Amino acid sequence: MTMKKINIFGTSGSIGQSTLNVLRERKELYDFIAFSAFNNVDQLIADCLEFKPRYANIGNEKHFLKLKDALFDTDIILSYGKKSLLDLACIEVDWSMSAIIGFAGVEVSLRCAEHSNVLALANKETLVCAGSLLLSTCKTNNTKLIPVDSEHSAIFQCLEGERRKDLKSITLTASGGPFRDWSLKKMKSATLKQALKHPNWSMGTRITIDSASMFNKALELIEAMHLFELKFSEVDVIIHPQSIIHSMVNFNDGTTLAQMSLPDMRGPISYSLNYPKRLKIDLESIDFTKINALEFHEPDIEKFPALDIVEKVGKNLDLGVIFNAAKEVALDRFISGEIGFLDMANLVEKTLEESSLITRLMETPQNVPNILELNKLTREFAKKLVF
Ligand code: MG
Repeated sequence: MTMKKINIFGTSGSIGQSTLNVLRERKELYDFIAFSAFNNVDQLIADCLEFKPRYANIGNEKHFLKLKDALFDTDIILSYGKKSLLDLACIEVDWSMSAIIGFAGVEVSLRCAEHSNVLALANKETLVCAGSLLLSTCKTNNTKLIPVDSEHSAIFQCLEGERRKDLKSITLTASGGPFRDWSLKKMKSATLKQALKHPNWSMGTRITIDSASMFNKALELIEAMHLFELKFSEVDVIIHPQSIIHSMVNFNDGTTLAQMSLPDMRGPISYSLNYPKRLKIDLESIDFTKINALEFHEPDIEKFPALDIVEKVGKNLDLGVIFNAAKEVALDRFISGEIGFLDMANLVEKTLEESSLITRLMETPQNVPNILELNKLTREFAKKLVF
């Protein structure tokens, strides 16, 4: 049996580490090609020593010497920076995990879409900022795109073996995050520490705050529209505090299929790795006798304006890159203490109304240089926006 060639971009992050946990169970089956991290050089070193990939890339140049020193007596080919990272994504492999967070992961995903048999996509921004480009790249190169967001993996699984035309709509579930039961007034003064207390999922800082504001869910709506070719009116969000149902698919005959598991990203990762098989991993099934109830509520748009603002993007998917860039800047400004929790939504809303950005968007076709340029212009605008 030939070994499966594996790339993991964003190895040191939460998804990257869960990916290694899954792979560790059958390590002998895999040929590890490239690993990458941006700042967490200690984790990258530890993972390189354990898994011995052929290549390793650290994003931030200032950590390169440390990486080199630690791995000097291995055969691992080391590099730093974005250009080398993109070169690694051009190596032909069987399976690539694209798990770099934020806009930084977009170009890597697009390269993987050209050079991997399977692209396991955990980076949301690729679909939001470059959805049509990614899908056409996968099609041209015969690359299988398998989503690794828990919601999209759930929908993907529910749609297996179904006819696309029988699908009526989808319902994305959302835990509601730490502020689910807070008042609007209290949310205005929510601190970084409070936003970081996610009730169900353990994730990185940025995505945890995006979950608290539901900007994460807004991105996921757009992701779903691209992945499953849906209109905005065919995607919906429901609050489901237990995070047991990861999403649902509604068919024309009144049937709804839901995918359930304990909230653990190893499930979607393993599914994307073994598709269409389901191999055993060290993850328990749900014990339904221990779950008292599964609850569902309509989300409160006033408290989570991201779900309202995203409608604009849902009706013109090309706006995704502006929406995402504004959201990333808003997040930076909240983390640095410069703006309040609910100001993040104001900032994104105002940026989406900026006519110079819209004009620019309409004048340019979707390709990598244009996406990069629009991302840059939007960030410049959003950084300067005063409240
Ligand atoms: Mg998700």
